[in-house]
Amino acid sequence: MKQKLQITFIIATLAVCSIVLFQLYWLYYNYSNAERSFHTTAVQALEKSISLYQSQQIELPTSLNYKKPSLTVFMRTTPSVEAFDLDTPKHKRLFNAEFKTVAIDKQHEPYVRELIARFMTQQMHKPLDLKALTVIYSNELKKNGIKMPVKLTSRKTPLEVKPTEVASRIDFYKSPVLVVAKLDSSGWMFRHNVLPASVSLVLILLSAGSLWYMSVIIRRQLKLDRLKNDFISNITHELRTPLTILRSSNEAIARFDVATNPEKLNRYTGINADIIDKLEGEVERIMDISLIDHSLGVKKRQQVDLVELIKNLIGRFQVLDSNAINFNYNGSEIVVNTEPYKIETILNNLLDNASKYAGAKAHISVEIINKSDNWQLIVSDTGKGISADDLPYIFDKYYRVNNGDLHDVKGYGLGLSHVKGLVESLNGKIKVKSKEGQGTTFILTFPV
Ligand code: ADP
Repeated sequence: MKQKLQITFIIATLAVCSIVLFQLYWLYYNYSNAERSFHTTAVQALEKSISLYQSQQIELPTSLNYKKPSLTVFMRTTPSVEAFDLDTPKHKRLFNAEFKTVAIDKQHEPYVRELIARFMTQQMHKPLDLKALTVIYSNELKKNGIKMPVKLTSRKTPLEVKPTEVASRIDFYKSPVLVVAKLDSSGWMFRHNVLPASVSLVLILLSAGSLWYMSVIIRRQLKLDRLKNDFISNITHELRTPLTILRSSNEAIARFDVATNPEKLNRYTGINADIIDKLEGEVERIMDISLIDHSLGVKKRQQVDLVELIKNLIGRFQVLDSNAINFNYNGSEIVVNTEPYKIETILNNLLDNASKYAGAKAHISVEIINKSDNWQLIVSDTGKGISADDLPYIFDKYYRVNNGDLHDVKGYGLGLSHVKGLVESLNGKIKVKSKEGQGTTFILTFPV
């Protein structure tokens, strides 16, 4: 059982760790994807903004606005002399030239505009107006869902664009320039990662929570297993002794011719009857507890004078027990609406425990405190107390404080769990305070 539970727990732990690791990996993957997507969008927007900016800087041929866009090129054919040398005295020559008009496909028209704009601005080396470019870039980013303050700078060296940089190069013929954008992506990254991160967090918490819950259940199961074994060993111990005595006395009757000796027969049958009574008592004790467990829901409330009920019970108790029991209460009678049988059983169990565990010299006291909205029953003793390690478990079924293998005090660990069940069935609460060597106090509070 223990091993099986351990294996189950190990498998569950592995599964939960894998889920957590996978979630972390997924989060990282998502984060770097978002980062990459942000970078690509920002660079593409910058390139597009530069093109737009360039097309605004020069006047483009009006023939591109026609229904059928075209471009007319002035082409020199002969002689082949450098264009700018033609009119110098050295090269005063005639040359042939022709105009060529090329029809531009409607779908290619934007590219042609872009190409001419780039070519002209770059070759003419028009100085960069970073302010105008910044406005265009901001709008371009907004179109792509990126809203944030933008700062553009230009630099001549180094010209290489680093992978982390949002930058684009303009190849002016005099000296190329790098336009670099400074963007604070943290807000954008936060917005794009908050949902997956929250989902992951919920999943991680759920997995860790279920593992924790499972460990609680397994620990409880293991404890129950141990308690069950303790219970069986206790009950076997309690039953074995009387059975051994029964067997010996039976053997004596058979062997020593007791049947013909009425005096001996009487003694042995007396012993047997005693043992049978004891066994019956034990069986009834267990039956009683399980029967009452089943009838906890049945309500038989009536007006009860607590003072009288408790006085009677203490009286009965003191016939059997040597410990003195003090009874304190305020007023002459305290009448409450409750189930007297349950109150008697509760007090019986608590007094029984006090005299069993507290030791012969201990003082036991019972007190009733009657308040306007509740009443309290307090049972305390000045006995050996319960250790802080055991205290949280004493109301658990079958739990007994470990006395090694000593069976000096009889019990099955059912009394207090039963008391708690009864108190709760009366809508009450039970609390225990105890210090080793100083004593134990049970405080029961019932609503009026
Ligand atoms: P049991 O049948 O063993 O008496 P209970 O549920 O009544 O079972 O009590 C659980 C354990 O709590 C006992 O084994 C005992 O060690 C401890 N206990 C209960 N009452 C007292 C007390 N008044 N003083 C010291 N120990 C106590």
